[in-house]
Amino acid sequence: MAIIVTQEKATDGILREVQATSGVDLSVCYQCKKCTSGCPVAAMVKAPPSEIIRRLQLNAGDEILDSELLWTCLSCETCSARCPMGIDLAAVMDALRRLALDRKASKQQGNVPLFNRVFLETVRLFGRTYDMLMIAAYKVGTLKLLNDTEKFPAMLKKRKIALFPTLEADRKTVRRIFKKAKQNRGT
Ligand code: SF4
Ligand code: SF4
Repeated sequence: MAIIVTQEKATDGILREVQATSGVDLSVCYQCKKCTSGCPVAAMVKAPPSEIIRRLQLNAGDEILDSELLWTCLSCETCSARCPMGIDLAAVMDALRRLALDRKASKQQGNVPLFNRVFLETVRLFGRTYDMLMIAAYKVGTLKLLNDTEKFPAMLKKRKIALFPTLEADRKTVRRIFKKAKQNRGT
């Protein structure tokens, strides 16, 4: 795909911010595309991981924060593991998501932002994810209360889902991390 960068965009690039947040040096990427060839969602998006990196190198601006990959990325870290230059692309995706949320630059991509919110909220409250509450909040948010409920008994039987939150998690530490992250973001 041809990548067009206008002069206006070139002066407003977000490369420096992304590098500072992720701690990754994107200048070493030489577009081998190993990240993209291993990415499980690359075929579902217009701009796969290698293209996102190239656009950032070419000083893409806020428009890149609307990329589908930000909200379809599974944080599986396959791209990071495959990169011959040791670029932590998963950290870059995290940095882009954070920027997109901070700047309200991203259009809502389906229910993924809702899922992210309820997931993080249960981690903040219980120290680890608590699937029952997360699923309940997600279903209320999507208004699809009965979707997939037939799978619930089998998941319970196979212990794929717990009725109660774990008591083993270090809730204090996790809450401290959330508090610190909030302070760092100035919110
Ligand atoms: S695998 Fe690494 S070097 Fe290759 S295109 Fe992806 S980010 Fe660039
Ligand atoms: S972390 Fe995201 S971008 Fe990287 S391979 Fe997994 S899904 Fe693709």
